[in-house]
Amino acid sequence: MAKPISIAIDGPAGAGKSTIARRLAKELGFYYVDTGAIYRTVAYFFDLWGVRPKTMDDAVVRNTLAPEKDIDGITRYIDELTIGIEYDDEGVQHMIMNGMDVTGDIRTPDLSQKASLVSAHAIVRDLLLDMQREMAEKHNVIMDGRDIGTVVLPKATVKIFLTATPEVRAKRRTDELIAKGQKADYNKILKDIQQRDYQDTHREIAPLKMARVSVKLDTSELDIDGVIAAMKEIIARKVTL
Ligand code: C5P
Repeated sequence: MAKPISIAIDGPAGAGKSTIARRLAKELGFYYVDTGAIYRTVAYFFDLWGVRPKTMDDAVVRNTLAPEKDIDGITRYIDELTIGIEYDDEGVQHMIMNGMDVTGDIRTPDLSQKASLVSAHAIVRDLLLDMQREMAEKHNVIMDGRDIGTVVLPKATVKIFLTATPEVRAKRRTDELIAKGQKADYNKILKDIQQRDYQDTHREIAPLKMARVSVKLDTSELDIDGVIAAMKEIIARKVTL
């Protein structure tokens, strides 16, 4: 069998990675691997155990993302955690935590922040590396995250860095929540995005950064169709679609 194709998409929170990757994966018949969901599941697990990563304000002020207090709790409970990824008939990724489907529980702003803090720990990142790589060894994948092109799949067939200004990303998130009938405060969302950007780019291990050979795509001025078209053009330079 030919080696599977892997498309790595990295970028900051709210750049549109998951929307775009999900649609592209469907069109190309690839698996979509949302690695943020894996980190959210880990954060959910530790939250249930009462292991609270310190607040984001602490993280920004002290600029240390791996305090002793957290690592004690993480080390104590990490062996109790099993994580699985399953796909339903529609190709939707489900996160299984210790046998429970937690897909519907992990998309809260609170867990976004906690995922960002928990994911700064080497012990957490190491645990998840093989499962991400195995997916790409077995299947054609579009995988999105923060360190896919740099750490998880350094030999990915195509690497794309998707970004947009924090203001545009916050506006998109706000509109998305309002469209779902949920409450949304633009200023709060913008602050959350800026803080996660800070945490994700300043951590010592696997920080968010552009892989050397990756193609940067700024989506600030593009709608979804525009981004998809641009992505297909980038992918087609490397892969016959
Ligand atoms: O992509 P999403 O917003 O769901 O990710 C939640 C958090 O998980 C991110 O802010 C980031 O800190 C972490 N993450 C990571 N590496 C990845 C994917 C997500 O550190 N590959």
